[in-house]
Amino acid sequence: MSTIGVLGGGQLARMLALAGAPLGVRFLIVDNVADACAGQVAPLLVADWRDFAALERFAAQIDVATFDFENVPADTAHWLTEHTRVSPNPRALALAQDRLAEKSMFRELGLETPAFATVDSREDLVRAAATIGFPAVLKTRRLGYDGKGQFRLRSADDIDAAWRALGGAPSILEAWVAFEREVSVVAVRGRDGAFATYPLVQNWHSDGILSASLAPAPDAAGLAELATHHARRIAEHLDYVGVFALELFVRDGKLLGNEMAPRVHNSGHWTIEGAPCSQFENHVRAVLGLPLGDTAALGVSVMLNWIGQLPDAGPVLREPRGHWHDYGKSPRAGRKVGHATLCAGNAADLGEALARVARALGREAQAAPVLAALHGAR
Ligand code: AMP
Repeated sequence: MSTIGVLGGGQLARMLALAGAPLGVRFLIVDNVADACAGQVAPLLVADWRDFAALERFAAQIDVATFDFENVPADTAHWLTEHTRVSPNPRALALAQDRLAEKSMFRELGLETPAFATVDSREDLVRAAATIGFPAVLKTRRLGYDGKGQFRLRSADDIDAAWRALGGAPSILEAWVAFEREVSVVAVRGRDGAFATYPLVQNWHSDGILSASLAPAPDAAGLAELATHHARRIAEHLDYVGVFALELFVRDGKLLGNEMAPRVHNSGHWTIEGAPCSQFENHVRAVLGLPLGDTAALGVSVMLNWIGQLPDAGPVLREPRGHWHDYGKSPRAGRKVGHATLCAGNAADLGEALARVARALGREAQAAPVLAALHGAR
């Protein structure tokens, strides 16, 4: 019987614990809030990331530590490596925590990115804006996710507001990309170097937060192969063990690297019902050194994120292949509180199910771009 320790007790830890249970895997979650939602399904240790006495108790009870949250301090991750096995390794975690290091690595490994420049001062920002042009987006190097720590600049008039909004934190200025679509690839690498990817997924965001994912991304065979190639290079370069996601923009039919998430990812939630082995089970398998599971898509799936509060579950549950996920969190603006996945054998059937659910829930706007993509795929 193995025990996986998870730093962070949100919905990702919760779904990891649920996926590990049939394999007989135990979990111990550490989070600094007592009502962390993973605590509803697995033992929770309430402690701060820097409480090393508590971390020592944590490390003594687990076989391997992993993360539901990528912004765990690097020194905590390093400390853990001296007390237990840690997957993914702290180098991968540190790299994904810093947008500058991450984008520089993408380029080194042959994955193009939007144009970007380092910004450490207001003067840097003025200089960067002159080379990058507008529109652009200023992003803090650290602690940014779900559109947080970002400011869009339309013209030079926005420079002061952007600099103030980000509090003068070390940042990068990035060209705003008029992309055709956003896609992601969820990949897994085992301890023995075995590597697999799930089919490429198409994603839609609203206010910087994932709103919907469609898997597999329609008409994307060539892009999928390329995305897998880049994901493999990154995984091997970082000697990565576990699941990670690579988020990409498609512009002029080419891939641009946006960011990597060194953990299971929201754009992979559809794999719970839409693939033979979910991203959560594969992460569990990878970090425990077990053989990886099948990552093929079983038909087509769409995932809708519920942000702020949950809608009525009825219309999803009435669908023959509708699946409901309530993370057990209290409602709050901008918070991911649940998701639904609809699966079908083909794009036409999936489109019909999605249209029915969207109509019943008044979520036509959320579903519209997915329906358009599905329509194009028929
Ligand atoms: P991020 O946290 O960097 O992944 O940004 C969240 C979302 O904002 C992305 O998924 C895109 O929808 C959008 N976004 C971020 N950076 C850019 C960019 N340079 N050009 C266009 N859209 C962007």
